[in-house]
Amino acid sequence: MAKFNKNGTIEDFQGFIESVFGLPDDRFYSIWDLLTQQQRFTMRALKGIRKGDADKTKINLLISFSWLMSIANRMHINLEDEIWKRFPYICSYCGKLPCVCKAAKTDKRVVIRTEDSIRPHSLADFQKMFAEIYPSKRRTHAEAGVHLAEEMGEVSEAIHNYLGQHQEKQFSSLKSELSDFASCVFGVANSLKIDLAKELAATYSNNCHACHQLPCKCVFSEVVAFKS
Ligand SMILES: [Zn+2]
Ligand SMILES: [Zn+2]
Repeated sequence: MAKFNKNGTIEDFQGFIESVFGLPDDRFYSIWDLLTQQQRFTMRALKGIRKGDADKTKINLLISFSWLMSIANRMHINLEDEIWKRFPYICSYCGKLPCVCKAAKTDKRVVIRTEDSIRPHSLADFQKMFAEIYPSKRRTHAEAGVHLAEEMGEVSEAIHNYLGQHQEKQFSSLKSELSDFASCVFGVANSLKIDLAKELAATYSNNCHACHQLPCKCVFSEVVAFKS
């Protein structure tokens, strides 16, 4: 049986997704199909925010995060490493903890350095780090949701560009955009007081969250009919 432990790392979660969904993903889903699923559940999470339905936001946020991992797996990207390079306990844009982008009207990305001795260990530690960099009291739930939507669009654009031209700088940009999306998943979770590690552990406690098989045996008609 495969499961995600609430004390696990982001890399553990990515590995869990590979073990449960790697086989059906590779056989049945093009990267565009993976992207469509990530978008589908992200948009449902936003619908949850619009309707003030915290449970709807939560389950769809978890599922969109799992499709993000499927895309990282497909592209052979270690997402935890990329998140850390992008957000080494400071804002990726202004380089400050907490972020001062808005107050300082930062309009140019600073060059940031990483200090590996302070790297968070668990997925829960990463969520705490994001709460410190981007305090949730500074934004509404809707603002956190709009930012997630913005990053979803940038992930799509980065995949489109990289698969079009295969340039190394576009691959770097894809890694950054996947990391930015992940940062916004943590952002929405912090705004709504969702303990992501705990909820992922509860949802992914026994193989696939829907069919409970290893590897997942959900057929396409069930995936498209999935209500959440
Ligand atoms: Zn900033
Ligand atoms: Zn399944």
